[in-house]
Amino acid sequence: MSDVTTYLLNYALDNHIGFELLNGIDSDWPSLAIPERNMMFINTNWYKQEELPMVVAHEIGHMLNGDSCYMYDKSGVGKINAESAANKVAIDLLLQYCKDYDIHFNSYIMFLQQFCIPLRYEYIVKKKMVMN
Ligand SMILES: [Zn+2]
Repeated sequence: MSDVTTYLLNYALDNHIGFELLNGIDSDWPSLAIPERNMMFINTNWYKQEELPMVVAHEIGHMLNGDSCYMYDKSGVGKINAESAANKVAIDLLLQYCKDYDIHFNSYIMFLQQFCIPLRYEYIVKKKMVMN
């Protein structure tokens, strides 16, 4: 597990967010957050390992916001707000990680690419990086 994933899971522990790491399940089984049960299920066997930090940060975002994760529920058109709110928290957590460990990026695009953050969040990252 990467340093950043460990950092995020420690953040979850510090904030009393329950989680279970699943490493024996199918690699395409999505992670999910169930705030009402204070539980996240993280598939550490995810087929895109480079996405794992963003996945964990995203699910923590749901837990902090109190929204369930519907990322893979294609029917939930109205749930896009919850997804985007979770991604905004995720970006904050990843920026905080970089700050804590003195990791610098030459551009916000590199930050997006490093953590597999969708490019449509470019303007948010840009704004937050300028403020820091
Ligand atoms: Zn989600």
